Amino acid sequence: MGLQEYRKKRTFAKTLEPKGKKGKKTKEVLSFVIQKHAARHLHWDLRLEIDGVLKSWAIPKEPSSDTSVKRLAIEVEDHPIEYGTFEGEIPKGEYGAGTVEIWDRGTYAPTHEDGDDPNKIMREEHKKGHMKFVLKGKKLKGPFVLVRMHKPPYEKKEWLFFKVK
Ligand code: MN
Repeated sequence: MGLQEYRKKRTFAKTLEPKGKKGKKTKEVLSFVIQKHAARHLHWDLRLEIDGVLKSWAIPKEPSSDTSVKRLAIEVEDHPIEYGTFEGEIPKGEYGAGTVEIWDRGTYAPTHEDGDDPNKIMREEHKKGHMKFVLKGKKLKGPFVLVRMHKPPYEKKEWLFFKVK
């Protein structure tokens, strides 16, 4: 997806959000962040680092560590890696206007590691619409799943996000 859509939606002269550099793929340890975003509708933005960008989902209700609670997660545009440390106010009139604060962050890894590049595993699982990973955050820890609610050709971007045993 890249960052074109992310940049198109924002006026960087007006918002303090990062423009983002060309994503470079990192290391074996991938990061994740969840930002609580008090926009017109309060939501939580889950972002998983894959291939040098943050794949992103907007979750309308607070993520839960209760394995019986499944949260709707709507996939949105990729965000730059630098967005993972962003907190602050997006000004009125700008895209996503409102307060962003980091709700949780840490590292994550594919549940099924086989010595392969974790970027590759997660990229392939993302494509399949079934992602399994272990979060190491302050609030969320352990195995979680993101699964697409629809079959291809994926007109809708609705996924479910939940913890598994
Ligand atoms: Mn948001």
